Amino acid sequence: MTEQVNKEIATTCPYCGVGCGVLVQPSSDGESAIVRGDPDHPANYGRLCVKGSALGDTLSLQDRILHPSVNGQTTSWEDAMEEVARGFRDAIRQHGPDSVAFYVSGQILTEDYYVANKLMKGFIGSSNIDTNSRLCMASSVAGHKRAFGTDTVPGCYEDLEEADLIVMVGSNLAWCHPVLYQRIQSARDKRGTKLVIIDPRQTATTDGADLHLAITPGADVALFNALFHYLSESAARDERFIETHTNGYSDALSVAGEFTLPQTAKLTGLSERDLQTFFELFAATERTVTIYSQGVNQSSAGSDKVNSIINCHLVTGRIGKPGMGPFSVTGQPNAMGGREVGGLANQLACHMDFAPEDIIRVERFWKAPRIASGPGLKAVEMFDAVLSGQIKAIWIMATNPVVSLPNADKVKAALGACPLVVVSDVATTSDTVALADVVLPATTWGEKTGTVTNSERRISRQRSFLKPPGEARHDWWALCDLGKRLGYDGFDFNGPAAIFREYATLSAYENDGLRDFDIGAYANTSDPEYDTLKPFQWPAPAGDVPLHGEDNTGSDHRFFQDGHFYTKDHKALFVATAFTAPASLPSNDLPFILNTGRVRDHWHTMTRTGKSSTLSGHIAEPYLEIHPKDADQLGLTAASLSRISNTYGEAVLRVLITERMQRKSVFVPMHWSAANSSAARVDALIAPNTDPVSGQPESKHGTVAIKPLSPAWYGFLVSRRPLSDDTLNALDYWAVATSTEGYRYEIAGSEPADKVIDTIATDTAITFKTPDGQHAAAMFEADRLDLFITLSESGPVVADRAWLSSLLTTTITPEIRLGILAGRPPAGEGTGRLVCSCNGVGVNQIEDAISKGAQSVEGIGAATGAGTTCGSCKPELRALLRAAAAKAPPSTPASIAAE
Ligand code: SF4
Repeated sequence: MTEQVNKEIATTCPYCGVGCGVLVQPSSDGESAIVRGDPDHPANYGRLCVKGSALGDTLSLQDRILHPSVNGQTTSWEDAMEEVARGFRDAIRQHGPDSVAFYVSGQILTEDYYVANKLMKGFIGSSNIDTNSRLCMASSVAGHKRAFGTDTVPGCYEDLEEADLIVMVGSNLAWCHPVLYQRIQSARDKRGTKLVIIDPRQTATTDGADLHLAITPGADVALFNALFHYLSESAARDERFIETHTNGYSDALSVAGEFTLPQTAKLTGLSERDLQTFFELFAATERTVTIYSQGVNQSSAGSDKVNSIINCHLVTGRIGKPGMGPFSVTGQPNAMGGREVGGLANQLACHMDFAPEDIIRVERFWKAPRIASGPGLKAVEMFDAVLSGQIKAIWIMATNPVVSLPNADKVKAALGACPLVVVSDVATTSDTVALADVVLPATTWGEKTGTVTNSERRISRQRSFLKPPGEARHDWWALCDLGKRLGYDGFDFNGPAAIFREYATLSAYENDGLRDFDIGAYANTSDPEYDTLKPFQWPAPAGDVPLHGEDNTGSDHRFFQDGHFYTKDHKALFVATAFTAPASLPSNDLPFILNTGRVRDHWHTMTRTGKSSTLSGHIAEPYLEIHPKDADQLGLTAASLSRISNTYGEAVLRVLITERMQRKSVFVPMHWSAANSSAARVDALIAPNTDPVSGQPESKHGTVAIKPLSPAWYGFLVSRRPLSDDTLNALDYWAVATSTEGYRYEIAGSEPADKVIDTIATDTAITFKTPDGQHAAAMFEADRLDLFITLSESGPVVADRAWLSSLLTTTITPEIRLGILAGRPPAGEGTGRLVCSCNGVGVNQIEDAISKGAQSVEGIGAATGAGTTCGSCKPELRALLRAAAAKAPPSTPASIAAE
C-alpha cells in the first residue's frame, strides 16, 4: 500500500461501506485537495466512485461549526463541557443512569466509538448508546447472530470475483456501493458471472442483469423460503454439511416447505417461470454469493429476511468458501467498526453481549465501577424515551436524526422537549444542530485520525491531512473529557493509538478462540506503527501472521470454511422464517407504497456532498419516482410537482415518471433536509415500525397518498447569493443545490410571477420575456452574471440548467448575453444535464456523440470521455443509447427537470 507519494496521504473514503483507500494531496489553503484511488488498497485497487473522487470539493469551511456554543451563545470548550457534565451528572443523580443517552454514528471512527461505548456502558452504567447504524444493518447483525452465534460476515470481496452467480437482494449496488459493483462487472467480463437482481424497482443495477426479479415489496422471505424448499429437494443439498455442522434444519424446512411455486408466485408477484429459472440457476451454481443491503435490512421482517437467505447457503453448505456465501454490505464507512466495539444498545463490547460471563469479563478489563447489566434502548425506542421524558440528557454525535429517523417530526418534537440536547457536528446546516442546547465543533474527514472497518472486515486508517479549523476537536477527546469531569478513571488516553491498543487488547482478552472478533496481533501497536498501519482483515489473533506492514488479504480470512460456528455446540442454526407482510399496508386512504433510498452522487443528509457542485449537478432536487399509469390517474405530468402525505407528515417533490417503478409503488430519495428543500424530509413520512428482533425501522415500506401540487408558476434561478428565508418562506416549493460560485434553485409559487421577479431581482435587473413566454430577469456585474431567474406560468420551466449554472463562472460575452435573453445557449455551448460527473459530460454531448455514430458505451466514452473514470454513469449511457434507438426520450432519474 502506498503510504505517502509526493506528499500524498493515504486515508480511507468517508462514505459507503466499501471502504476505498484514497490518496490525498491537499491544496496549500486546505480548502480543496486532489484525490485519487489508492492502487494498493485491497478494497478498491485504485478505483473510486464519483463521490470519492469529489472529496476534494467538500473541504471548504462554508457552513462549518467552528466554536462551542451553549443556548446559541458562543462559549469556550471549558464552559460547554462543564454544561454537558452538569446536565449528565444531575440527570444520573436524580433519575439514574438510564436517564441519559448517546446517539452516535457509523461516520465516527472506531476509536471514538470505543470511548463512547466504554463511558456509557462501563462507567455511567447504562446501555443507552445506539447508533444510526441501527437504520443500516441491525437486521444483518441479528440474522448473523441467530445463525452463526456471532455477528460475522463470512466472506470477503474476492468472493465477488470468484463467484459464478451473484444474487443481489434489495441493493442498488451500482449507485450505493459503486466500486464493488465495478469489481463485479470486471469479473463478469472475465468469467461470465451470472447476475440475478431481486428488487421491486428497475435501477442502474438491474441494467445488464441476467435476470431481474421485480418482487412485490416486502416479499423476500417468501421467495427465499421457496428457494430453501427447492434446494432441500435438489442435488444441491449438502447432506453432510447439514448433518455435521447445523441444527434446526427440520424446523426451518417445515415452515419453508409450505412455500410452493404457485403460492410463492402469488406472494412475490413473480412468474412461476422466473422463479423456476432462478431456483435452477441457484441450485446448479456452487459458487454463489448472495449480496444484500437495505432492501433486506430496513424491514419489519429484516432479521427473517437475512436468515431466509442464510438458510439457502446453509442447506447447500455454500459458506466460507471461495466464491460463495451470504454477504451483507454495510451502508456506512464504519458501521462495522461500531459493531465491533459494541456501538449498538444490545451489544456490550468487542462481540460480547450481556451473558453474565461477558459482563464480568468486560467489567474486569475496564475496571468498570458500574457496568450495564442488559441491553439499552434502540434508536426508535430511545427517541420515544426522550419524548416521554425518561431521557433527560442526550448527546448526538455525527448524525442528523431529525432527517434520518422514521417519524422524523416526532424526533424533532422529542429533542425540542428534552432538557439537555448536546450535538457534536461539523455543519451548521444540520437540522439536528438547530435543536441543540450545546453545540460542540467536531473534527471531520481530513482532520480526524483513527480506524474504520469496511464490509469485508478490513480495518483501515483514516489519516488527518488538515489542521482542525477554529476550535474543532476530536470526538474521542470530548468523550474522554466528559468521563473525567464525571470523575471516572480510564479516560486518560493521549491519542487514538492508545485507544486502539486498548480496544485490540480487549478483543483478545480471555478470548482463546471463543469469539470471532480478535485483533490481538495489534494489541502492542506502537504510536509509529499505528501511524503507518496498513489495511488488514480480522480476525488477527496474537501470533497470527498479519503484523504491521503486511497485507493479510486471502482465503484464510474467510470464516466458517471449517464448519466451526460460534454457537454453544459450534453448529450453525437454520432459523424458521415465517412470512409476514410489511407492517403498513396500502389502503384506500394511503394507496401507494413508499420506498426510500440513496441517489448516485449524494450521501446521507448532504452536509458534505451538498457542498460539491459536481455532485449536485447530477440530481439537483428531491423527486418522486412513479409509474406512468399511476401518474396519469393522479393527473401528474412530467416534471410537475406532487404532494405526498400520510398521518406522519408530508413532502413536496418533483415528479419523475418512469416505467422502472411498479404500479402503486413510488420511490423518494432520503437525502434532502430542511436546509436544502421546502418539504422533502421523506423519513418524516416513514412509520416507526421496526423489526421485532433487530429494532431496525421499516424505511423501505411506508404508505402515502399523492396529489398534484398546482402552483401558479414554476421557476428556476441561479444566483451568486442564497435567497433569504423570507423569500423562501413565501414560496410553495423550493430546492437549492450548490453551483460553482453560487446556487441553483428550483422554485414554484402562487404569488403573481412578475411580483416575484421584482422581489428577487433588484432595480438593476434586466427583465424580459423569453421567446416561449417565460418571465425572466438577469442581473450583471460588468461581464459577470450575478443572477438569472425565469418563471413559467404554463408548466415546468424549460431551460438548459447546466449551461445557466455554468454562467456564474463564465465571462459574459455579447453572444452569451443574447443567449440568456433568448433562453437558450449559443450553438454548441450547452452541454445539457450532467450525466458523467467525473468528466463533466452532459446529455447533449452524449446524444450528439450517438447521433454521430457512437453505438456503445465504449463508443460514447471514446467520443466524450463519459463513463471512462468511475463507470457509475454507464447504466445511464446505456439508457440514452436505448432511447436513441427507440427514438424516445430516455427515462433516467436526472431527466426530472424539463430541460
Ligand atoms: Fe467511497 Fe464507497 Fe465510492 Fe468507494 S465506493 S469511493 S468507499 S463512496
